Amino acid sequence: MAKLTDDELKKKLTPEQYHILREKGTEAPFTGQLLNNKKDGMYVCKACGAKLFKSEHKFDSGSGWPSFYDVFSSDAVKLTEDRAHGMQRIEVTCANCGSHLGHVFHDAPAQPTGMRFCINSASLDFNSDKNAKV
Ligand SMILES: [Zn+2]
Repeated sequence: MAKLTDDELKKKLTPEQYHILREKGTEAPFTGQLLNNKKDGMYVCKACGAKLFKSEHKFDSGSGWPSFYDVFSSDAVKLTEDRAHGMQRIEVTCANCGSHLGHVFHDAPAQPTGMRFCINSASLDFNSDKNAKV
């Protein structure tokens, strides 16, 4: 999986996408293009194309960000404790390229895992062909 340099990413991404992925930004809730996407397919990292989340794990959490109760595979993402902004959260990053994706919370008891991966839409790309090489 190709890893782009910061300069290459700046050309590929919009300033907002770059800020979220590379500077741990957060998009405003209810603004993401993929928030209400209900199509069948694969969600991949906007920066490197690694497969991250499957459409069947996406659910409507009401939070304003795309939410998933599981990851594509346990080695697709990296979880790190994040104490920024006076909160204790678990940050979710792309295991392949280290880009910031969002946070994971254990507050979704109605979901099979009880977990809510709260992911910036700007950090993701959607591929409707699950078997495609991305
Ligand atoms: Zn990535």
